[in-house]
Amino acid sequence: MNVAIDGPAGAGKSTIAKKAAKALGYIYIDTGAMYRTLALACIREGLNAGEEEKVCDICEKSDVELVYRDGEQVMLLNGENVNAFIRTEEVSRMTSSISTYKRVREKLLNLQREIASKNDIIMDGRDIGTFVLPDAEVKIYLTASVETRAKRRYDEQTARGTECVLEEIMKDIEERDYRDMHREIAPLKKADDAIVIDSSYMDIDEVTQKVTDEINRRR
Ligand code: C5P
Repeated sequence: MNVAIDGPAGAGKSTIAKKAAKALGYIYIDTGAMYRTLALACIREGLNAGEEEKVCDICEKSDVELVYRDGEQVMLLNGENVNAFIRTEEVSRMTSSISTYKRVREKLLNLQREIASKNDIIMDGRDIGTFVLPDAEVKIYLTASVETRAKRRYDEQTARGTECVLEEIMKDIEERDYRDMHREIAPLKKADDAIVIDSSYMDIDEVTQKVTDEINRRR
């Protein structure tokens, strides 16, 4: 059973997908973390996002692995656990730029399809229902207003003790959405057969319930 959850930045995809996967005994695959891992490799090489050739070379050379430790998805970059380094704003920006490149996407596409073919999974990303797993049994497009998404991110960062400005987060999210939706290859868009859930006025448990109900209906 393959479940695809797509949607814009900060819609709550990973939180919901993780909870639903746990409830159903499925494996949760965060494809954004894979792109982030490659972006980190480029940052460490001192590359600018615009240097397509060099970016693609580094991404192709880098060894990216997804493993599970204590039930958590761990990203390995050339064998190193990089989970602690891939959630910064710098990495987010680099990720949305380099994920527009064909060679970068192809590398991860193969890995994603291979994992999905062997397991019951809930995979979240931008192009899962439209491109990576077009035959997924359940497709969800999870969205929320940009104000809600920015406020959630602001609250998360503030709770972690990171200083941030709401307007800047909102601008960042809008830029990222624009790039993700307007890129040439596998842009973010709702699959024709996806169920749309707008989480602007729903809490995490309500959304998780709705997602698990949809999955259970089709099992
Ligand atoms: O989901 P997350 O915010 O971690 O994704 C980071 C970035 O990775 C997105 O803004 C997008 O540019 C890219 N991405 C993608 N395709 C996916 C998952 C993520 O292009 N399937």
